[in-house]
Amino acid sequence: MSHGDHGHLELIVAGGTVVTPAGTRVADVGVAGERIAAIEPALPRSGAEVIDATGLLVLPGSIDVHTHVRLSDEEHPDRFARDLAAAAAGGTTTVLTFNNPGTGISEAGSRSPLAGLDEFRARTAGQAPIDFGLCSVISGQQPTALAELPELIDRGVPTFKAFMVYDFALPDAAIEEAMRVAARHGGMLQLHCEEPSIIDPLVSRAVAAGEVGPRFHAACRPPEAEAMATRRAIEMARRAEAPLYIVHLSCAEALEAVAEAKAAGEPIYAETCPHYLTYTDAAYGDPDDGEVIKRVISPPLRSADDVAALWGGLRDGILDVVGSDHVPDRLDTEKQLPAPPFPEISNGGPGIETLTSIVYSEGVRRGRITIERLADVLSTTPARLFGLAAKGAIEVGRDADLLLFDPNRERVIRQDDLHHTSDFTPFEGLPVRGAPVRVLTRGKDPTTAAGHFLERRLVR
Ligand code: MN
Ligand code: MN
Repeated sequence: MSHGDHGHLELIVAGGTVVTPAGTRVADVGVAGERIAAIEPALPRSGAEVIDATGLLVLPGSIDVHTHVRLSDEEHPDRFARDLAAAAAGGTTTVLTFNNPGTGISEAGSRSPLAGLDEFRARTAGQAPIDFGLCSVISGQQPTALAELPELIDRGVPTFKAFMVYDFALPDAAIEEAMRVAARHGGMLQLHCEEPSIIDPLVSRAVAAGEVGPRFHAACRPPEAEAMATRRAIEMARRAEAPLYIVHLSCAEALEAVAEAKAAGEPIYAETCPHYLTYTDAAYGDPDDGEVIKRVISPPLRSADDVAALWGGLRDGILDVVGSDHVPDRLDTEKQLPAPPFPEISNGGPGIETLTSIVYSEGVRRGRITIERLADVLSTTPARLFGLAAKGAIEVGRDADLLLFDPNRERVIRQDDLHHTSDFTPFEGLPVRGAPVRVLTRGKDPTTAAGHFLERRLVR
């Protein structure tokens, strides 16, 4: 709270229910330049533009730290901008995205995280309507990945993802070394935890038995495979004396491993995603391959008990963040029917535009988490863990990244209403309460704003 003279306010978001780290109350939020300049019950208007937020929640804009937005190319000249505009329409004001492991070829002709950063900067310049940053993918297909990490961190990409599975997996010894290098240089590894020694034989057996329809994908990636990998990853982080961020945690057994590490005071962080909080593996029983193929994701959807455990973990602080894991696959390209054998189906689904609405409706309106906890897991903690010091809360001095949210609007999620570059939503037909009304990005409407590439620095 600031009192007295707050200088010249250009914009006042007036009379909304403002969710701040200091509590939730009806107040005006005053914006000067690109920053929040005052939060008070009745700010003097004196020439400022006024946005009436009566009856609305005023939240810090969501920060989606887990997306796979695709870079624009000749065939899709605006797809990067369109997915970021879709994020803004859904209440998100900052997006961190991964680049695919295939992007970024060095002058020596090999895959390289630094070349990937150069390519990303060049191909996104001047396109984004909201602020954005890169989380690099580091893989076993990049011969110089570990050597490049210090410079990558120096250049504003302190977080990077590795995989324990897939053909671009990073071997365990390299994962542990990446953790060690990250810890020494102010970075943090984001890890996809699934155990190939469990998954690969199950996939081979299913294929040999001719069980190759999309529904067999999930049975080959059981919760034990995630839990075992999660425990091993935590042990590696302990040996490396490094922080670790576990992406898309989906099941109770893996959650238990995180809970034990946190209880021991270790810097282990974990994220879950809206789909794991909303749907169960019953979806794989659908006789329609066209429906099942939309749920071919890794990890797969889990049981109702797992869903309940995840909400408990989110409430109790075992889970730190909700990210969308947005993959803008389309039914007319990546997920076409007839489906190929399931090991060849693209893993992933869209979610960049539905993140906040799902967490609000399924979480806050069903009494599973508070509105303050929503702001924490969608904005404050992502900002803190990912080096976005100017963002993440409605506080004087921070960027005026604001979400005006109508808590009472009732609607049904429909692809027809969305703006993302995918041609389906996994949440089709889901009734939700609450809807984003408007976002401001550094005080501006995203249709008139220019997003910045965020050079991030982690604070310990
Ligand atoms: Mn993943
Ligand atoms: Mn992902």
